[in-house]
This record gives sequence, structure tokens and C-alpha cells, in this order.
Amino acid sequence: MKGKVLALITIVFLYGSNNLYPAAEDIIKLTFLGTGAPRPSLTRYGPSILVEAGSQRLLVDAGPGMRERLFQAGGFELLTDINLIILTHLHFDHTISVPGLWLTGWLFGRKSPMTVYGPEGTASMMSNFESAYAWDIRYREVVGVHEQGSDLIAYDIEPGVFYEQDGLKITAINVEHMPINVDTGELLGLEGSTLGFRIDYKGRSVVFSGDTRSTSSSSIVEHSMDIDVLIHEVQVPAAGNSPEAQLANVSLSVHSTPEQVAAIFRETRPRLGVYSHIIPPELTSDQILDATDYNGPMLVAEDLMTLTIGDEITLGVASGSGTNIFTEADVVDQ
Ligand SMILES: [Zn+2]
Repeated sequence: MKGKVLALITIVFLYGSNNLYPAAEDIIKLTFLGTGAPRPSLTRYGPSILVEAGSQRLLVDAGPGMRERLFQAGGFELLTDINLIILTHLHFDHTISVPGLWLTGWLFGRKSPMTVYGPEGTASMMSNFESAYAWDIRYREVVGVHEQGSDLIAYDIEPGVFYEQDGLKITAINVEHMPINVDTGELLGLEGSTLGFRIDYKGRSVVFSGDTRSTSSSSIVEHSMDIDVLIHEVQVPAAGNSPEAQLANVSLSVHSTPEQVAAIFRETRPRLGVYSHIIPPELTSDQILDATDYNGPMLVAEDLMTLTIGDEITLGVASGSGTNIFTEADVVDQ
């Protein structure tokens, strides 16, 4: 199956691709900073994807290790350039690196505030982050670090278009990741919501499923017709009936099996289907692809993989195009 997939898309490995392949005006470039989930993994960090559309940059989710992967991908230049994060939901594996990037980017030169959009509860979480780090920020300002850029601005959003700027449009999609009674399928009544996103830019389009149990009635389907890339989460069920397997499979009620994702891919037929947010993280690409009954182009994302979406979709690897030794003196107010 893998050979067939590789034949259907153009594979171009662009080492140091940030320098060699700057985002053209009409392409979307994705860098997978983390392709795992809550469980720690040294090869699959927590979920986070860098989106570049023309000169605009943003992150979808901010999982564990995101700051380090950004640094790997583009050094201080990239770390200090990002000022927009959109969150699919408020689980820690999607949010824990927000303070890390907000504060690191500011400390090493970002002069604009960090802006965060996410579902109900996002503004409250961000305001708690601000309270938690008030002493840190005050400390650094007292010793001369620039004040500009230390603000964290947040908005709770509802499904629908919530961002439109310079040709970049972002739509929030309601997805099914809220807890349910596994016997009856009824929602357990927890407040809040969970989202996916559709990003459109100059005729290119990407859908991010967020965390979701996908079904044929999922909103992901209607938002993913005729799109370029559909990035979907996946959980491969643990085999057997051991207590460990049963425990691992509890979360299947809020995630999607390869069978369910295959049904979504067959219905929507994106130019490229991509798996990310892999549960469990030690699965190989072949194991996931072999479990997916779909004959269109698809692949399993790896940390630091890039996808450039234009007339062709090209695959590359981000690595170290930026500066990783800090030499800028202008972060300290003179
Ligand atoms: Zn997750």
C-alpha cells in the first residue's frame, strides 16, 4: 500500500526547507511539529502543526515539545515570529506549550502580543496562564526585558468563520470529542466544546479534524468536500481482552479507528489524506496504512515533516534553517 501512496504524490525532500523553499503567494505550507497524543514519546511529540500561508504563520494546537520542534524547524527567527495559536480543545496535550511559546517568543524578541483562539474556556485558561506567570513577567521587565509582546490575548469561538485576513480564512467546525456514556452514546453533559478547523488560502484548503470520533454524520465530512489535505486523528484499537488493552481502548469512544477514518476519506476523497495525532505513538506507518481500507493518496505524518500545498503537494523535512545561538541584543531595553 505504501508504494502506491508514494507514487501518487510528488515526493521532494527539502532539507532546511524554510530557506530553500519560502512560502510562495498561493501555497499553504504545513510543518508537523508533533504527531503524537497525551502519552510521552521521543519520536512523536504532542499535537501541533505550523501553518504558513504567504507571510502569515499560525499554530494549530500547542502540545508538549512544540517549542522545541519549532526551534528545530526554524531557530529563534521562527520562535519569535509566531503570534497566533488556534486550539481545537483544552486538553493538556493540545495546550500545555502555549505558555512556553508565549513567554519564550517574547523573551527572545517578539514585540507583538500572543493571540489565542479556541473553544469555550480558552479565554479563562489564558487568563489563568497570565496570572500564573505574572511574577516571571514582572521579574523580567524589572531587569529590562522589553514590555511589548508580553500580553496574551484570547477569544472563545463558536463553529463558523472566526478569522479572515489577507486571503486567509479559518473556519471552526464542531467535532465529537466530548465524553459520552459508552453504553448509550449519550453525552455526559460536560460543559464546553471541541473543534476542528478548515483553513482556506488562495484556492488551497486544509481540514484539521482535531480530536474526534468520526462518523458519517460528522461535520468534518461536509467541510472536507473538494479539499486539498484532510488531516485526521487516529487510534488503532489494542488487541485482546487484557486489562491493559481494555484500558487503552476506553478512549475509542472519543477517537477514530482507521476503519472510521477510511470511511471519511472515501466520502470526501481529499487530494491527500494525512494521519496525525497517532494513538498509540509507537505504531508504524505501515501498521496504520494497512488497517485503512482506502485507495486514495494518504500518508502518516512524522514529526518535522512538511507538506507544501500548491498545484502539487510536496513532502519534505524541516530542519534547522534558523539561528540556534542567541546573539540578538535588542531584546533588552537600553
Ligand atoms: Zn489529543
